[in-house]
Amino acid sequence: MTYDPENIFAKILRGEIPCSKVYENDHALAFEDINPLAPVHILIIPKGAYVSSADFTNQATDPEIAGFMRACGEVATRKGLDATGYRMLSNHGVDAHQDVPHYHVHVIGGCDLGGMMKKATSANR
Ligand code: AMP
Repeated sequence: MTYDPENIFAKILRGEIPCSKVYENDHALAFEDINPLAPVHILIIPKGAYVSSADFTNQATDPEIAGFMRACGEVATRKGLDATGYRMLSNHGVDAHQDVPHYHVHVIGGCDLGGMMKKATSANR
């Protein structure tokens, strides 16, 4: 998949549309999800143009990856989730229903999140 510079997170990075910023470092931006699934729901995106987790882990430099992962941890700490716990997840591609084609990690918490996910089978496709 080639990177589409008109995706909504690219527009947020360029400041063309607003976001509710939580944290930023040299390599990552974190902001509130517009449709939160829990009391805390933050998205962390790399500043570089990466479509998905596969693209990011294959192509990004070590400093980009380190900066991105540190941002994920920093967001959880700033949101007070370290003691109570949280879930980090990233959807990659069609089977995972990735909606926005700019790599992102969801940090979700602030309540009991229940089990990991509903059991999935190949009958779902
Ligand atoms: P995914 O299905 O993993 O690609 O998730 C995309 C996420 O982006 C969803 O949770 C949306 O609610 C969120 N989202 C879409 N547009 C915006 C926006 N403009 N600001 C913040 N979050 C957004």
